[in-house]
Amino acid sequence: HVKRSGRNGWLRYEQRLSAAENERRELERELRGALAADQLSLHYQGQFCLNSGALIGFEALLRWQHPQLGAVSPDRFIPLAEESLLILEIGRWVLEEACRQAVKWDFSGRGISTSVNVSAVQFEQPNFVEVVRRALQDTGLPGGCLMLELTESMVLRDEALTQRHMGELRELGVQVAVDDFGTGYSSLSMLHNLPFTRLKVDRSFVRVLGAHTARTDRAYLLMQVLVKLAHSLEMTVMAEGVETPEQRALLLEMGCDAAQGYGLARPLPAELAARLLDAASG
Ligand code: C2E
Ligand code: MG
Ligand code: MG
Ligand code: MG
Repeated sequence: HVKRSGRNGWLRYEQRLSAAENERRELERELRGALAADQLSLHYQGQFCLNSGALIGFEALLRWQHPQLGAVSPDRFIPLAEESLLILEIGRWVLEEACRQAVKWDFSGRGISTSVNVSAVQFEQPNFVEVVRRALQDTGLPGGCLMLELTESMVLRDEALTQRHMGELRELGVQVAVDDFGTGYSSLSMLHNLPFTRLKVDRSFVRVLGAHTARTDRAYLLMQVLVKLAHSLEMTVMAEGVETPEQRALLLEMGCDAAQGYGLARPLPAELAARLLDAASG
């Protein structure tokens, strides 16, 4: 009896698995048409200097408006796009769209930059730098107005290639940031040889800072160490996920350079981000 019910349980489990798998495949199939169907767009989240409050740039964040499901989270569809290599096509579009918008908004004249997230799969393509170069050329955006965000887990896979691409990007004037710093297991070793210009500290380090945080609390000391680490290696440091005025004040006190988060500005569709930009220029 036990055997039989166990077997049925297993079958049900298999059926559930394949249902999830079918759903995943269906979503992937739909994602394939999403770009052509105009369902993908970019939202822009402001990035600010902590000291002056000045707007220093925007991060472009991909959005998928599915006709039936509504907004699908990037945490759900980016992995699908990566597995299917669709990310190459989508990533190229993101890069071009973000550059085009930055030119339209005169980022060069304003001295601010656009940040674009890049997947490992994209970065590892032999022609990756060529794709970036073409996006800059086609849109006319100076390389200095573009910052790429790489997550630490990806960059380490092939260090020689990473080195080469980073060097070539630097020649274009394109800057590179480490995204979600502190969440991967080899956080520190990747800073050895790679010329990142910005360290984006993961929001898990910011979330624990609150109204009652003392200067001697571990949360405070840990964030402070990350700020010092970045500065020792001549990187600027940006805190992610800043939601409260207390967090802002503590980060400023620690010497953190910049911040991004719901407490400063939410990710906004282009029309609304344009208003933020207008407000920032007085
Ligand atoms: P990320 O690059 O670390 O982006 C920051 C994420 O945190 C965004 O989520 C943003 O909406 C969210 N966020 C910003 N401020 C706050 C805050 O104060 N509190 C909280 N709780 N969250 C905040 P989003 O837009 O859902 O994107 C998730 C991730 O998807 C991104 O993380 C990035 O890794 C990836 N992603 C987004 N767009 C692209 C893209 O165009 N290409 C690639 N390869 N990945 C992308
Ligand atoms: Mg990012
Ligand atoms: Mg991040
Ligand atoms: Mg993230």
